[in-house]
Amino acid sequence: MRQVYLDYSATTPVKEAVMKAMIPYFTEMFGNPSSLYTIGATSKEAMEKARVQVAKLINAQDKEIFFTASGTEADNWSVFGIADALKNKGNHIITTKIEHHAMLHSCDYLEKHGYDVTYLDVEPDGRVNPETLKAAITDKTILISIMFANNEVGTIQPIKELAAIAKENGVIFHTDAVQALGNVHIDVKELGIDLMSMSAHKIYGPKGTGALFIRKGVKLSNFMHGGAQESKKRAGTENLPGIVGFGKAAELAYENLDEHVKKISELRNYFVDQVMSKIENVTLNGSKEFRLPGNANLTFEFIEGEAMLLYLDMKGIAVSTGSACSSASLVPSHVLSALGIPVERIHGSLRFTVGDPTTKDDIDYVVEELVGVVNKLRNISSVSKTKGW
Ligand code: PLP
Repeated sequence: MRQVYLDYSATTPVKEAVMKAMIPYFTEMFGNPSSLYTIGATSKEAMEKARVQVAKLINAQDKEIFFTASGTEADNWSVFGIADALKNKGNHIITTKIEHHAMLHSCDYLEKHGYDVTYLDVEPDGRVNPETLKAAITDKTILISIMFANNEVGTIQPIKELAAIAKENGVIFHTDAVQALGNVHIDVKELGIDLMSMSAHKIYGPKGTGALFIRKGVKLSNFMHGGAQESKKRAGTENLPGIVGFGKAAELAYENLDEHVKKISELRNYFVDQVMSKIENVTLNGSKEFRLPGNANLTFEFIEGEAMLLYLDMKGIAVSTGSACSSASLVPSHVLSALGIPVERIHGSLRFTVGDPTTKDDIDYVVEELVGVVNKLRNISSVSKTKGW
């Protein structure tokens, strides 16, 4: 059966060239980067090359890149690291209602341990209004964490403006750029970012490898304790093949960014146009203008997203009803709720994300199958019957 994967925001396949770069570091070049003899030094050299490759993608210095085991760890490190380092300055953190759970659950934890957290509302398109941020800052605010781009609806935030507000108020600015990396031009210097989370598996690199950008001069406490790895800031023997793969994936993302964005945004637009012209009562959630190039989050009225997902799966099509992490539960997506979308419409929403391997032919296949699935489900839906469908 034909397989079409349209869930590139959940994860991406490792590119051939990335895999090729990684393989020697599992076998003959297996040395521990902390060892002083030659095979250790070779590993260290490979790791430092990867650091330069990741730094280049975001216009940082290589010394400002700290490898972690995931985007989740980078988010946790940012929030716990600042909460601890600046506890004498204040106990107030500002974030948004649409963050990934890596941030939201870390903030929940801090709330149970004496910190105050403000969860900013967003506009109906998912953007944070800079005035809302200004109004939330107090003299106790130590961290503002606002994601670069949302994983469910793809909305891109006005990061430069938000970071400038943080700076004017002397507050550290963190952004979770796990979804934005490789899909948006990111220049941490130009944007005024202090801390930024990244993950390799969203940019055609391996799973279980992430990084935190820490602007030179920003002090945050360690999150992992142990050996002297990562300039004594992140203990634990490094995932050498993973880091080498992250570096190669970052290099490819840097070289192909414009081409990648053009290709996947064109395919996404074609997909949305086709769906809208062939299926009635469909809406696009999130911002039209400020949106990740591959993301289409659509609500199909009168039907359940979960039922659509299963029918599409039977046709070999992989999509998501929300972020992968929450797709196992039927709790309505916190992101779509924060955009003010009513519960019954949230349940009829699906996220389609296009990636590098996607073709126009794939999109045509998905649209054709989607028309069939929607018709079938609307025919048996009691809601659609009472509405005269
Ligand atoms: N932040 C965002 C916005 C994400 O989409 C994800 C993964 O889906 C993460 C953080 C977590 O990254 P990782 O899977 O590397 O832990």
